[in-house]
Amino acid sequence: MSASTDYPIDAIRADFPMLKRPMNGRPLVYLDSAATTHKPQQVIDRLSRFYSEEYATVRRGAYSLSHASTALFEGVRAQAAAFFNAGRPEEIVFVRGVTEAVNLVATAIWSRLRPGDEVLVSTMEHHSNIVPWQLVAARAGAIVRPIPIDDRGELDLEALEGMLSEKTRLVSVVHVSNGLGTVNPVAEVARLAHSVGALCMVDGAQSAPHMAIDVQALGCDLFACSGHKMLGPTGVGVLWGRYDVLASLDPYQGGGEMIDVVTFDGTTFDDPPYRFEAGTPAFAQVVGFGAALSYLSALGMDRIADWDAHLLDYATAALDTVPGLRRIGTAAHRSGLVSFVIDGTHPADIGSILDQEGIAIRVGQHCVQPVMARFGLHSTARASFGVYTTTAEVDALVRGLHTARDILV
Ligand code: PMP
Repeated sequence: MSASTDYPIDAIRADFPMLKRPMNGRPLVYLDSAATTHKPQQVIDRLSRFYSEEYATVRRGAYSLSHASTALFEGVRAQAAAFFNAGRPEEIVFVRGVTEAVNLVATAIWSRLRPGDEVLVSTMEHHSNIVPWQLVAARAGAIVRPIPIDDRGELDLEALEGMLSEKTRLVSVVHVSNGLGTVNPVAEVARLAHSVGALCMVDGAQSAPHMAIDVQALGCDLFACSGHKMLGPTGVGVLWGRYDVLASLDPYQGGGEMIDVVTFDGTTFDDPPYRFEAGTPAFAQVVGFGAALSYLSALGMDRIADWDAHLLDYATAALDTVPGLRRIGTAAHRSGLVSFVIDGTHPADIGSILDQEGIAIRVGQHCVQPVMARFGLHSTARASFGVYTTTAEVDALVRGLHTARDILV
């Protein structure tokens, strides 16, 4: 049976209350899931139940409620470890999202960087996988170098190979580009990084919502994702790291719960993951994130990936019928979204006209200014998909684009 016939799209949509609300007098057509996804009732109910019946701080309390809350929190750590096929639960660090994960790793490896050392990132990185490295590189006298991409938006692996040297400390690449949709060969990138003894980090913000992630099979050392893009609450994400790698990293933030012994003569730190979780964690959000992982697991990540591929094929063909539309990002392997421009129009005007029709897309630079520069653009329009997106919504988008063209061109 094909993905399009065995995927329970109607039942899925019924789970998402936000999808039932109208927008500007029309049914909401939400095509901005790469920015953030809506939440199924199961996640909303789990959060509500936790706050109404189970809420108490984690780790600190001497009372039953706190023990139970801690057990739930640590249970989600174990669930996330299984979801990503981590070696053990202690390899899962709860963070706010990819942005915090990259800042954590950049700060944690800062003391290891020497003048002239290099961190390689691709030209298609989100700013959150560029700027944190630049901040620490500037302090250490190290250099952040971009790995080039070609006209289709594919990573130039030969160029990467040529850039690697004994100066390379870390290679960090996005798994799926939020600007282009490119799926990068991260296992190959990890292999190349390791060939010169460098670490490999993967930004999974756009891959984790759409495909099964097996961090051990990817072969990288560190992997990050954001819960709010995976049907979960805001304010929670995961940094996975191979345990020996995490154990070799300095702390990121100081504070409660990340320490072993504190004196004014010096402080020693707890083991990972707690060393990296200073202060009261976002434990309610973590519990909600557990419900989101359960939802995704019940649906099946492979089925979600099949549905995504079906939507992408459908949208690619449908968008190519719009006169003057040029897709930006035509890599052989893509996922989750389509970025485009239409001759004679500005993406911001397209966004406003679609909004009047109840269609929500993202327009702008998508936090990937180097990608825009690479393609000689200031901005693009981007339609991105979630587990609940339908081909009928893609049809609505295409109709809206014809209307926008009639008005603007
Ligand atoms: N990387 C990519 C590829 C993204 O799409 C995003 C979010 N747009 C991020 C990193 C940053 O994620 P967050 O804002 O959740 O930290």
